[in-house]
Amino acid sequence: MTLTLDDQVQATLRELGIDDENSGGFAGTWSALEGTRIESINPATGKTLAAVWLPGGDTYEKVVASSAAAYEEWRTWTAPARGEVVRQLCDELRKHKDALGHLVSLEVGKVLSEGLGEVQEMIDMGDLAVGMSRQLYGKTMHSERPLHRMYEQWHPLGPVGIITAFNFPVAVWAWNAMVAAVCGDSMIWKPSHLAPLTAIAVTKIGERVLAANDAPPIFNMLLGGRKEVGERMTADRRLPLISATGSTRMGKAVGQAVADRFGRALLELGGNNAIVVMDDADLDLALRAVLFGAVGTAGQRCTSTRRLLLQRGIAAEFKARLMEAYGSVRIGDPSDPKTLMGPLIDQSAVDNMMAALVRIQSEGGVILTGGKTIEGPGFFVQPTLVEANAAMPVTCEETFAPILYTFEFDTLDEAIEVHNSVPQGLSSAIFTLNMRHAERFLSAAGSDCGIANVNIGTSGAEIGGAFGGEKETGGGREAGSDSWKIYMRRQTCTLNWGEELPLAQGVEFEV
Ligand code: NAD
Repeated sequence: MTLTLDDQVQATLRELGIDDENSGGFAGTWSALEGTRIESINPATGKTLAAVWLPGGDTYEKVVASSAAAYEEWRTWTAPARGEVVRQLCDELRKHKDALGHLVSLEVGKVLSEGLGEVQEMIDMGDLAVGMSRQLYGKTMHSERPLHRMYEQWHPLGPVGIITAFNFPVAVWAWNAMVAAVCGDSMIWKPSHLAPLTAIAVTKIGERVLAANDAPPIFNMLLGGRKEVGERMTADRRLPLISATGSTRMGKAVGQAVADRFGRALLELGGNNAIVVMDDADLDLALRAVLFGAVGTAGQRCTSTRRLLLQRGIAAEFKARLMEAYGSVRIGDPSDPKTLMGPLIDQSAVDNMMAALVRIQSEGGVILTGGKTIEGPGFFVQPTLVEANAAMPVTCEETFAPILYTFEFDTLDEAIEVHNSVPQGLSSAIFTLNMRHAERFLSAAGSDCGIANVNIGTSGAEIGGAFGGEKETGGGREAGSDSWKIYMRRQTCTLNWGEELPLAQGVEFEV
């Protein structure tokens, strides 16, 4: 690994165990420097943070074999013993929260408080998973046959593949890994090629915790380019579950390939999230939520607010206030606590945003504020507010950038129709002080999204609930509630403790 870093960054990487000396061994089960070299770029400066080598040769086979062997042993550990290892992992993450949060901020350009928040989310997920390790409940049923006992139980599934996006480079691993670990699975993580350093750091922390517990190497990681390693995992029958987070384009490819081999896919894909603001809303609350949802993380969250539906009575006032707020957003160095918006991830993200803006205008959209790149180093853009109408096809797509479309409506029915008219179905929100409006939005005839909020924005879910969305968002659910079930296999067991062999449904079969 070649490091061309200032002292502070070097210290951060060293604390996380990433330095020249151990460059090849970060995935624990392998050491390979013969592959392709890629660079991790700081999007705030455009400069290289470090170069890493993608594994070459037979590394893939070694990692899958090692992960399969680790699973054979790990599944024999009791779930609470597995939970204890996860508890210790949380302790390590607490110790290194500052350094890891800083590295997230450096590598993907999130403002520091969001980088730290992401590590906190890992810790929260771990804490939740520790509790789950004693609550992997199955049901018991009353058998229709006398002297029979019937119940279901949940077994570990196997080595699972985890493919993650750049924008939550460590939290999404934790959503999967913490739960998969207590469920008894081993895993192979293919992080985004845009965020290799955070993945190395997390894997090294995990390795240390496993080693301290004489646990098998369940946390494996395989760096890869844009597609190759992910495609190989997707087609690999030894990985019964592929959990993939990223664009709808990627999810379609992954979903089809996994279905082709009768594997299980957990898909967490793009969103096109809207906030509905009613005339009766608390506009101060709504304004703050819209600003965070649309501008926070530079619009690079799956739950970012991309569409704003304003009821006619407050539309003009709300837009004016929003434009004023946009004008005061501090854009710049993500490590400066006063900064609210950092850069986009890379030049191609900037180009995509600019291309979308050309298209928006050609479809009749009007840019109210923003719309330009910011001169200087790094990949900075202005957050952009657009007056749009529901007939513009571009508004049905996810542009992964801080573009917010505004629409006006008269009735809630009309708003819900526009709201649900896009192909994605991740997160949604309504701002209203009217109970009937709120309940209508949350009803079966309301929002069609996986997440529906009242007087809370679309962005920033808590880990206790199941997270995910419908339609082209993929249908997967991760994190809390009963999401753990996808990481396990269900077995229905019937035990006959009598002396007869009655058949179900009263079938007679006597010789
Ligand atoms: P991306 O689709 O470009 O890449 C995501 C991951 O998939 C990367 O690791 C990539 O290498 C891998 N990949 C790409 N093509 C593949 C293929 N054919 N087979 C296997 N793997 C493949 O996404 P991105 O630009 O890194 O992230 C942004 C996207 O992720 C946005 O669409 C965002 O909405 C989505 N996202 C969704 C959630 C969610 O929970 N719903 C969370 C975070 C991000």
